[in-house]
Amino acid sequence: MRVVRTIDALQEAKKNLFGSIGFVPTMGALHKGHLSLIQQAKKENKHVIVSVFVNPTQFLEGEDLESYPRKEEADRKICELAGVDILFMPSADQMYEKDELSIGAPAVRGYILEGEKRPGHFDGMLQVVMKLLNLSGAKKAYFGKKDAQQLALIMQMVKNYFMDIQIIPCDIVRDENGLALSSRNIYLSEEEKCRALSLSKSLKRATKCIMSGELDAEIVKSKMLEVLKEADAVEYVAIVDRKFNGLKKIEIGNTIILVAARIGKPRLIDNIWV
Ligand code: AMP
Repeated sequence: MRVVRTIDALQEAKKNLFGSIGFVPTMGALHKGHLSLIQQAKKENKHVIVSVFVNPTQFLEGEDLESYPRKEEADRKICELAGVDILFMPSADQMYEKDELSIGAPAVRGYILEGEKRPGHFDGMLQVVMKLLNLSGAKKAYFGKKDAQQLALIMQMVKNYFMDIQIIPCDIVRDENGLALSSRNIYLSEEEKCRALSLSKSLKRATKCIMSGELDAEIVKSKMLEVLKEADAVEYVAIVDRKFNGLKKIEIGNTIILVAARIGKPRLIDNIWV
C-alpha cells in the first residue's frame, strides 16, 4: 500500500494502477462501517483508493474540527490489512487555494434536516467530495447510507454536473446493541451509549409499526418520539422519500426515516430505508 500526502504523489501512485478503481472517501478514525465500504470496493474493483481528510470547510464555527478524532497510524494499519492500494492523506493546503470558487448545496434539499441544523455544512462537503472524486480517477465511489442526506446530495451533484462516476450506497453497520457506528461515538460515556440506543430503538419501533400496516407518517413519528424520550434532545424525526421530499404516507420501497439527537456532547444521526 502506498501512503501519499500530496496531489502530485497521488497522481504518480495512480500510474501503477492498471484496471478499475473503487474510491472510499473518509474523515478517518476508521471503524467497521468504513471497513465495509472498503470491502465492497475491493469486491467490485481491481484497485481501491481510500482518502482520510478531515475537511475544514464542512465544519461550522464552534463544531469539533480541532478535536475530531485523528488516528493516522491505526487508519494506516486498517487500510493495509484490508488490501487498499493507495491511502491518500492530504493536508488542507493541498486541497484548497485561498480564493476558490464554491459549490452550493441545492436551496431546499441542502438546507433541511442536517442542512438546517448545520447551515453550510453540505456546501463544504460537496466541495471536498467533488475534488476527491475528480482526483481519485475512480469509476465507482462508496458512501454509507448512514449519512443519507449527504448521499442523496452527492448523487444529485454527480447527476447535475454530469460527472462520470457511479455512487454506490452501502448499508449501515451497527454494533451488537444496534448503535450505528460513527467516529464520534468515542465521545460517548457508557451511560450516554445506553441512551444513544434510543435512536436505533425508535427506528425499530417505526419498522414494527409499518410492518403492522401503519403507513401514516405522523402516527409513526409519534411512536418513535415515545421511544426517543430517553435521548437528551431530539433534533428531528423525519419521514421522506429517497429524494428527501417530505411524505405524509409511507411508500414502501421509497422511504427513508431519519432521526437526529444530541446525546451528551455529540449529535448522532441514524436512519432506516423502508
Ligand atoms: P466519515 O468518515 O464519517 O466522513 O464517513 C466516511 C464514509 O463512511 C461516509 O460515506 C459514511 O456514510 C460512511 N459511514 C460512516 N459510518 C458508517 C456506518 N456505521 N455504516 C456504514 N457506513 C458508514
